[in-house]
Amino acid sequence: MRLEGKVSLITGGARGIGAAIATLFAQEGSSVSIGDVLEAQGAKRVEGLRRLGRMATFRTLDVTKEEDWQTAVKAIINEFGRLDILVNNAGIGTRMGLEKVTQEEWERTMDVNAKGGYLGIKHCVPSMIQTGGGSIVNISSISAMIGGHTSMAYRSSKGALRALTKAMALRYAPYQIRVNSIHPGDVVTPLNQEYLADPARLEERIRMVPLGRLGTPEDVAYLALYLASDQAGYVTGVEVIIDGGRTAG
Ligand code: NAD
Repeated sequence: MRLEGKVSLITGGARGIGAAIATLFAQEGSSVSIGDVLEAQGAKRVEGLRRLGRMATFRTLDVTKEEDWQTAVKAIINEFGRLDILVNNAGIGTRMGLEKVTQEEWERTMDVNAKGGYLGIKHCVPSMIQTGGGSIVNISSISAMIGGHTSMAYRSSKGALRALTKAMALRYAPYQIRVNSIHPGDVVTPLNQEYLADPARLEERIRMVPLGRLGTPEDVAYLALYLASDQAGYVTGVEVIIDGGRTAG
């Protein structure tokens, strides 16, 4: 029960990594609100959290829309009385290289992956200040630290989130609000299942990983749990890679 008494908001929690984080946080005692644009999947996920005996709600939240953040945070404070943990997990992927990515795709990727994080911090921090602190976990990517021939917009958006993390960690440290980022390698989720469906490509991706397998949403969830919990009370402004050793060499 590492999150007993805490209230968490997890964006993009309807499926994939966010869903695993929501489930683990609920198992560890947190009340959980899932904010997502996938309403049916989000509502179903929340039913599962309630079966674990936790208070849980679903909020329709497009992380790119400031008014959605305002409504969601207000509702969470009304329902739960506080907000201790924000996981900025919602994200989209674009695999195109610079020559192929359109300006529209670039802007959409930056909007969801970078602006979404900024808006989340902006609207969740005031209630954390009021209750004396909190923890913000931003789900970035190893794409923020290494180059490649593809995914230009994605890399740039995750790099922005990485830099935002450090700036916000310094800005809010005096209020005991910790801000950290997680940088996963390949994790099998609906985001990339089509890409990884090609057996040759899957094998190629696994070969890049010294531990010999791709990540699971649960691998990432356990790291998020640590960073969200009071056990990480002296940890802020860090970027934690979780990639089976892929970027170690
Ligand atoms: P996913 O597609 O399974 O889940 C993403 C979730 O975000 C979905 O529920 C989706 O509806 C939600 N979402 C998308 N746009 C949104 C918006 N505008 N507002 C609210 N919610 C929105 O993907 P995932 O693999 O679980 O990815 C979760 C996070 O992890 C993303 O930020 C992704 O970039 C990051 N990540 C994933 C991998 C990977 O290999 N899967 C690797 C590194 C980082």
